[in-house]
Amino acid sequence: MPMPYRFLTSLAVRLEGWLYLFDAGEGCQINLKKTKLGIKPLRALAVSHLHGDHCLGVPGLLMMRAQVPDPGPLTILGPPGTERFVGHLHESLAFFLNYPISFCEWNEGSPDVAYEDEQIRILWGPLKHTTLCLGYRLEEHPRPGKFNPARAKVLGIPPGPLWGRLQRGETVKLDNGVTVSPDQVLGPPRPGRKVCYAVDTKPNKTLYRLCQDVDLAFLDGMFLPEHQEEADAKGHMTVDDAARVAQRAGAQRAILVHISPRYTEEDMEKFKEAAKGRFERTEMGTDLQSFTVPYREDA
Ligand SMILES: [Zn+2]
Ligand SMILES: [Zn+2]
Repeated sequence: MPMPYRFLTSLAVRLEGWLYLFDAGEGCQINLKKTKLGIKPLRALAVSHLHGDHCLGVPGLLMMRAQVPDPGPLTILGPPGTERFVGHLHESLAFFLNYPISFCEWNEGSPDVAYEDEQIRILWGPLKHTTLCLGYRLEEHPRPGKFNPARAKVLGIPPGPLWGRLQRGETVKLDNGVTVSPDQVLGPPRPGRKVCYAVDTKPNKTLYRLCQDVDLAFLDGMFLPEHQEEADAKGHMTVDDAARVAQRAGAQRAILVHISPRYTEEDMEKFKEAAKGRFERTEMGTDLQSFTVPYREDA
């Protein structure tokens, strides 16, 4: 439940002005407003599972989005029952919607890629919780390779708009009639950035797969290691479990979230210590925290 000192867990990923949101617990829209990210750019909302702390904020968000003129289509990803859940609320509350929503529910046999647009794709898979819970991995599409100006000069391409077009992947024709394709002046494609969002789970194979080599992993670190038994019984991880998964999966950096409401701010030092003890590049996430994910070659 949302506490006065800690809201429920959500992750908003912003890329080139578009927004992708993972989970929407009760009160999600309050913090989203504080971030000033806006609601119109939201393209996809991925719900991990139908426990209240991950989905009770969905109706409020949908209503908030409908206050914007012509906000454009929205895709909602989630476990089976997500469309029915939203449909019931829409029917009971009869709230106004001015945009189409398409639902995509995970099922046995679903492809690994749940969603794709021109800049990213979202992969998903079932985790290990007390109910069907999905983990997600957002992957930015690879970028074109680096432009090689020396090569361009050798080929007789004058600096200017033609360079830009080649950099964007277009084939161009020179004044002398020769055509040049991008692969003649670009290096190999550069990998895009990757982020994993996986909460409410014990370690399992899917979790490792989704976390593999990501730049940033947002993971369930609900309990202190001294409460391992309770974590196991409730289908959650301790910070030690989560930090170990991140390290073994080769994540560059891990942010542990979804802290049990029983812990107060005073306990946070213990959390940090336990997490860092296992994997140095682990931090405890806090409300409204923001992270910039650099390209690896720029980092
Ligand atoms: Zn849950
Ligand atoms: Zn939860």
